[in-house]
Amino acid sequence: MASQTTFPDAPPAERVRHDLKRRELTVSSVERVTPNMLRITLTGPDLADFPSASPDDHVKVFITGSDGQPQMRDYTPRRFDRATCELVLDFALHEAGPATAWALSAAPGDPLTVGGPRGSLVLSSDIKRFLLIGDETALPAIGRRIEEAGSDVDIIVYAAVTGPEEQQTFETEATVSLNWVHRPAEDAASAQRILGVLQDVTIAPGTYVWIAAEASVARAVRSHLVGTVGYPLAWIKASGYWLLGQADAHEKLD
Ligand SMILES: Cc1cc2nc3c(=O)[nH]c(=O)nc-3n(C[C@H](O)[C@H](O)[C@H](O)COP(=O)(O)OP(=O)(O)OC[C@H]3O[C@@H](n4cnc5c(N)ncnc54)[C@H](O)[C@@H]3O)c2cc1C
Repeated sequence: MASQTTFPDAPPAERVRHDLKRRELTVSSVERVTPNMLRITLTGPDLADFPSASPDDHVKVFITGSDGQPQMRDYTPRRFDRATCELVLDFALHEAGPATAWALSAAPGDPLTVGGPRGSLVLSSDIKRFLLIGDETALPAIGRRIEEAGSDVDIIVYAAVTGPEEQQTFETEATVSLNWVHRPAEDAASAQRILGVLQDVTIAPGTYVWIAAEASVARAVRSHLVGTVGYPLAWIKASGYWLLGQADAHEKLD
């Protein structure tokens, strides 16, 4: 008799809480990953107990706005090395905003206060298939998920960037299909191109689907995957990582 794999109604995962802590860090290096992606490495003894259990964790960076008022924004721990106490954040550059302005002027020796992560959603290692969809702001989490995946994992990515110069490469043991979707920066809040390439997508049962982009794009992609493709909502985690025209905004869609 042919055996059939059954999958739970929701992906096996554990929500882990961390002690909320602010850490005083120092910029140790600034590097261009691509023309519009700035990689900032931070160090400091405060990182000795930094928790980063999941590729889509986020921290708050504390910066000063152009009006001199304190601001905070969300960024993904792109890489963390406990042995060297080094935390890497990747900043997708766009036209406005205090976090982007801070990153553009950052230099070795500059201080940065980082809060969190407050918690992590840790997926079971039983999950072997991933479909990751996002824009430039999602690439740190996508890159980390790819790099931390083992050789028995299959990952399909659809990532929207402005052109071939913004495409990144990732070192991994996993089997990865990287699909880049090009659209101009001014269309970053339009779902048209990404929906175009997702028209005929098929999703194998047991695939964890992760979406992060401008909120209306994330919503449109999730709606397509649930409504048209018929994939179960519980297996999709979708987030609006930023909202067009609104500073310091994000939207949790699950
Ligand atoms: C959980 C989570 C993790 C995130 N991780 C990362 C990460 O690792 N790297 C990263 O680069 N971003 C990440 N983001 C997105 C980032 O927090 C936002 O883009 C943030 O708004 C940037 O702050 P800012 O001060 O530069 O701009 P803001 O002051 O917040 O916004 C100013 C203006 O810029 C617009 N804007 C904001 N972001 C963008 C953008 N990406 N492209 C075009 N216009 C934009 C806003 O609509 C607003 O009109 C993450 C968001 C969340 C919720």
